[in-house]
Amino acid sequence: MDSDLKESIYITELSKCVRCGSCKAFCPTYDEDTTEAMGARGRLTLLWGLSTGQLKPSKILNARIFSCILCGACSGLCPPGVDITEAIYHGRSLLKNTDKKRLYLRLLTRFSTKRPKLSFRLLSMTQHILFPYLLKRGVLPFQPELPESPLKDGHQVYTVSKKKGRVAVFTGCIVNFLYPHLGESLINILQRLGYEVILPMGEVCCGVPLRTLGLEEEAIELAKKNIRIFSRLNVEAILSLCPTCTLAIKVEYPKLIGEGIGKAMDISSFLVDKIDSCHSPASLREAGQASLVTRHYSTATYHDPCHLNYGLGIKREPREIIKNIGIDLIETEGERCCGSGGLFSLSYREISEGLLEKRIEDFKKTGAETIITSCPGCVMQLSRGVKDTPVLHLIEILKEAYCKRSNK
Ligand code: SF4
Ligand code: SF4
Repeated sequence: MDSDLKESIYITELSKCVRCGSCKAFCPTYDEDTTEAMGARGRLTLLWGLSTGQLKPSKILNARIFSCILCGACSGLCPPGVDITEAIYHGRSLLKNTDKKRLYLRLLTRFSTKRPKLSFRLLSMTQHILFPYLLKRGVLPFQPELPESPLKDGHQVYTVSKKKGRVAVFTGCIVNFLYPHLGESLINILQRLGYEVILPMGEVCCGVPLRTLGLEEEAIELAKKNIRIFSRLNVEAILSLCPTCTLAIKVEYPKLIGEGIGKAMDISSFLVDKIDSCHSPASLREAGQASLVTRHYSTATYHDPCHLNYGLGIKREPREIIKNIGIDLIETEGERCCGSGGLFSLSYREISEGLLEKRIEDFKKTGAETIITSCPGCVMQLSRGVKDTPVLHLIEILKEAYCKRSNK
């Protein structure tokens, strides 16, 4: 898409706003700070002012535009259908050169998305000195622990003896470099269901971290690479454990570069039917009750990741899987962002912590023995806030129950 067309789409989106304010109803940043510009309407008004020349970039204006979590809770509520997150992404790309606060974050994100393996090696070597230092300086909200090696190492094909189908996995950076065990669990389940699994060589970051910092050109480069790699695969579906990646490659790429990865799917939408067709809910439940999962966690609450819920509209499937395993699901009173938002939690610590605390209170009221979610970013954020309750990705629960059942 050429830049003039992109600019005209942007102006059209901004001009659709009738300032009704409906978008503020579930805005997490507005919930934390009721200043008008901490909600979608205020942010769009600022962007409109910028686009008409009535406003100029400034420290405070940039702070408001970059404080949006890009959770997407607002877009579905907008009567004229303004694509608020796209407008904010684009607005940030126009502001990036004046936004000095995130200068280092931009340099690091650019480098790590361009040279991910090297970045991983450097961080692995220095993590025991670097991470405690960054934690002490308040740069990191918690101390991550890197695994010995990433999930991917070149082109990987996991074969099966009686093949029912073929799928690919879009690994995503968090799973690849921080939580490879989640990817291993997914591969394991898919193989047990009879699927050959491909982890293609050449996958790059989905580009979302770059876009959140306004680095649209760099994100476009990555998007094109991913399209080249994944579009030539002869597979039934392209699965991801990270809803942010799925949303980006399926829904956001067409807006960014004119084409997306149509076969991209969240794991729960793919697995929910496959498991039902192989094993009745009753037999799976029976197996689940005999497994470690339900012995230790007979009750659970589910946290909806924003990009899965608002972005991809998936709520039913993960819940169905949890219930079928035999775990009693206790819903929280409302739904709320956990405050992660990827790099957001580094730039806006106070808001991120505030949202996390509120979400933890929601969980406490349920009395559930475990918290299940479908996003590695949410797992990371919630695990550092919830100390006395296990926080698990859906795939971990599923693998535990399903593999035990299969081994019987
Ligand atoms: S994307 Fe989320 S944080 Fe940003 S304006 Fe919309 S509701 Fe608020
Ligand atoms: S809901 Fe839509 S039209 Fe109403 S203020 Fe928000 S962005 Fe503007």
